Amino acid sequence: MEETMLCWAVLKPIATKDPIEATPEFRLALRTWFTKCGRDYPWRRTRDPYAILVSEVMLQQTRLAVVLGKGYYERFMRNYPDVQTLANAPEEELLRVWEGLGYYRRARMLQATACAVMAHHGGVFPNHEKELLALPGIGRYTVGALRSFAFDQPSPLVDGNVMRIFARLFADDTAVDSTEGVKRSWQRAEVLLDQKHPRLYNSALMELGQTFCKVGIPDCLSCPVAAFCQSREPHNLPVKVGKVSITQIEEVSIFARQKNRVLLAMEKGTRRRGLWRFPERSHEEIANSDVIYEANYAITRYRVSMIVHAAYGIEPKNGEQWVEDTDLESFPMSAPYRKALRHLLTQD
Ligand code: SF4
Repeated sequence: MEETMLCWAVLKPIATKDPIEATPEFRLALRTWFTKCGRDYPWRRTRDPYAILVSEVMLQQTRLAVVLGKGYYERFMRNYPDVQTLANAPEEELLRVWEGLGYYRRARMLQATACAVMAHHGGVFPNHEKELLALPGIGRYTVGALRSFAFDQPSPLVDGNVMRIFARLFADDTAVDSTEGVKRSWQRAEVLLDQKHPRLYNSALMELGQTFCKVGIPDCLSCPVAAFCQSREPHNLPVKVGKVSITQIEEVSIFARQKNRVLLAMEKGTRRRGLWRFPERSHEEIANSDVIYEANYAITRYRVSMIVHAAYGIEPKNGEQWVEDTDLESFPMSAPYRKALRHLLTQD
């Protein structure tokens, strides 16, 4: 441990300025770096609040490499290029377009926002904080993102990235997810915000958190604001109070075939509402059938073991239906079930 600390004491440049006392210099350093090195994303080429909102919602729980690298953002924008088309989209089709991104609640919320913009603002996004906050699915962070990125209005934003940067910049070991920690982060975001260049400044701050001041070991030697950073052991920050406990669960289902059809069931509960999956059966009903597919996946705080049994002579129950092979791709499914389905059809 001592060796690690010693190593960090050497690798982490010593701060020569205070970010609050030298705020104009801090903003300038961030701006200069970002203007020269900022990455080019589709949502940075537009001022359309709708396109920016779509990117923000997708990036909430999905990594940038997936959103961009697998073409989800482009596909979504091709299908729903504006608020109106999204507001009018049938839910089943919307979930199919969202498929692979997970956390389907986000797609429904995005549509609810689009419907509210159509109903209350004639299809034009408002740019005032109060009106934005009144829209479904829009919180304080998203208000800051929309106002600064789309309208270039001075509006602070704080997310996990920004909290981490500020905890290190101010060498603050107050838990970032405590009431006091959240309050401090927002106060700092307001004080440091570049009133003249909010779009540029907030974009730079977000990118700093994705590139240099990243989770785990930050790259302080290349950091454009290292001269302002007070922390001596940034890899030990931020501190958090709430640690999520992981629960292991089993998801047992059946793969039932009848001619060229597969038996599917509507998902229950709110998390995957509107999606389809393999049906469930009691342990007694599947006791003598073979396991033909197994996989593990993670969702929120759950680690799921997915076990699929072969099933014969099965009759559909409530909420289940036989689906022709040719129609299967149009039925929205969560990624683990889509993967299992494709695999089992090739083995059939
Ligand atoms: S990368 Fe983060 S911790 Fe390192 S100098 Fe920059 S702001 Fe500080």
